[in-house]
Amino acid sequence: MNPLKSYIRDVPNFPKEGIQFKDITSLLESPEGVALCLEVLLSQLKTTKVDKVVAIEARGFFFGILLAHALKVPFVPVRKPGKLPRKVVAQSYDLEYGSDVLEIHEHAIQEGDRVLIHDDVLATGGTSQAVCKMVESAGGQIVQCNFIMKINFLEGAKKIDSYPVFAAVSY
Ligand code: AMP
Repeated sequence: MNPLKSYIRDVPNFPKEGIQFKDITSLLESPEGVALCLEVLLSQLKTTKVDKVVAIEARGFFFGILLAHALKVPFVPVRKPGKLPRKVVAQSYDLEYGSDVLEIHEHAIQEGDRVLIHDDVLATGGTSQAVCKMVESAGGQIVQCNFIMKINFLEGAKKIDSYPVFAAVSY
């Protein structure tokens, strides 16, 4: 078994009936688990030049900032509407349980930036697809979308199959 799986808890019927929520707070509580997860994510970036890490609110921020720090590149947050203080670019998207809008600061991505996109979970792929669109409209080049985990039966990878996709854990 993938050793990272022991740090991830399944919470049935959260946040609503029928959703099997993948809880990473138990991973975050373990310094060994965090180190292992970061090492696995970084192992897939050894030959990839990254200029910026873009991570998705809120659970994408945990490893997003660690990745940016380890790679010594800027961290760019993608947030829910109304949270970013400067002028933003918005993109609507669908997710496993509902739909929403995401925002990124205008000019946070420059033409030609090589961007790593990170989130905790790849489910239906709607969220990551929206972020890929935002980054590409700003002129960024997506070098990888990486995740702590992907939920295979939801086939999210299909929505972002024009980019390299890596998940440290697959369900
Ligand atoms: P999606 O757009 O369907 O790929 O959903 C991805 C986003 O929703 C990520 O930001 C996750 O944090 C969250 N998410 C979706 N499904 C789950 C799940 N089963 N457990 C935990 N988070 C999830």
